Amino acid sequence: MEFKLKKSNAIEVKNLIKTYGDVYALNDVDLNISDGEYFVLLGPSGGGKTTLLRSIGGFIRPDSGSVVIKGKNVNNLPPDKRPTSMVFQGFALFPHMDVAQNIGYGLKLQSIEKNIIDEKVNKMMDLVGLTGLHKRKPHELSGGQQQRVQLARALILENDVLLLDEPLSALDAQLRKDMCIELKRLQKTVGISFVHVTHNQEEAMSVADRIAIIADGKMIEEGTPQEIYNKPKK
Ligand code: ADP
Ligand code: MG
Repeated sequence: MEFKLKKSNAIEVKNLIKTYGDVYALNDVDLNISDGEYFVLLGPSGGGKTTLLRSIGGFIRPDSGSVVIKGKNVNNLPPDKRPTSMVFQGFALFPHMDVAQNIGYGLKLQSIEKNIIDEKVNKMMDLVGLTGLHKRKPHELSGGQQQRVQLARALILENDVLLLDEPLSALDAQLRKDMCIELKRLQKTVGISFVHVTHNQEEAMSVADRIAIIADGKMIEEGTPQEIYNKPKK
């Protein structure tokens, strides 16, 4: 007899609705994401991807529906009280801070001791491939390196879920391919759930354990990259 290991849900989204005037950015969306899963939200521009991701992170308040993370309803919690970290679209690093300060900033806000922050920053920099670049300012980094700083800055908070909004869209095609491999490796190393938003099908296929396609505020289909690839286009 075969036992299938049942994975628990990291995120459960139910009946989520968000309107802007008469536009349904999210039109009754349900979504389940497992623990330790690399999940990709794929869809055309304006489909509702950012609205969904930000609703999970607590930056947008939906009109109705619920978001449960790790078994806890987080509807009324602000972003910093949710077990999520977010990598925003574009490079939002503090220009006057060096790499180490950018990465340690979230811990500094929590009044954590400096030597503990330094130790964690060092570990994170090694993990994302920024060893030795502590003193560089953002403008002295390549696009790929800036993206690694963003990742380190989010991962250092040690939350259960990492939300990434079009994390590779500012990179050229070759770098995007390299960073896909890197992101996948990182996710497997830290073992938390990643929710990665993109409009790029190739990118989605190369990183995802599972993909959900969202358009016009509705879930269209969901499956492994193989399942999505094999389905006839509607
Ligand atoms: P995506 O990230 O897939 O490109 P969004 O979630 O940003 O899509 O947007 C979904 C829909 O909601 C689009 O029609 C967009 O124009 C609309 N929308 C998003 N944010 C706002 C806003 N702050 N005000 C008005 N309309 C918005
Ligand atoms: Mg978007």
